[in-house]
Amino acid sequence: MLLKRLEAYGFKSFADRIEIEFDRGITAVVGPNGSGKSNITDAIRWVLGEQNIRNLRGSKAEDIIFAGSSARKPAGIAQVSLTFDNEDGKLPLEFQEITISRRLFRTGESEFYINKARCRLKDIYGLFADTGIGRDSISVISQNKVDEVLNAKPEDRRLLFEECAGITKYRDRKREAVRK
Ligand code: ATP
Ligand code: MG
Repeated sequence: MLLKRLEAYGFKSFADRIEIEFDRGITAVVGPNGSGKSNITDAIRWVLGEQNIRNLRGSKAEDIIFAGSSARKPAGIAQVSLTFDNEDGKLPLEFQEITISRRLFRTGESEFYINKARCRLKDIYGLFADTGIGRDSISVISQNKVDEVLNAKPEDRRLLFEECAGITKYRDRKREAVRK
């Protein structure tokens, strides 16, 4: 499945609207420290439904809204959209292209959309279930996750391999069955 486009405004350091087109193959983002490279992956994780603000390197929800600078006023809203090519029908909706969006207002209200239709967070999770893309999947690996893997105990590293192999759900089901 191809991630075609990321659009964001008011998200973290992106005061202005940014639009990034992804081609097939590998895309590398380069830039000085603090220029916003990791904020791009934070944006991707957020729109996919990340609810734990610490995983987005913040301490409260509004930390993901542009906080302002000496030259700019703070933003009142953060919005991120991701567009996937769905020609292969991997996402269970009859659209060739699927755009998911998330908005957060400074007042705390938050909204989710699939192809511009308002939906629930649950619908976003449902859309990506078993595709390897969702919030908890290993499709986004952060800097600290790399350190974690390298420093993990063998038993903990094994859990990651099990997740990659897609057998975590069987272990969970077994644990549940044994408990009953
Ligand atoms: P490195 O190379 O060190 O990993 P990076 O390019 O990944 O850097 P990021 O961590 O993506 O950089 O960006 C950090 C920058 O984003 C900091 O300058 C920080 O001030 C800014 N930033 C984070 N949240 C906000 C916010 N809510 N409003 C404005 N700026 C923000
Ligand atoms: Mg970084």
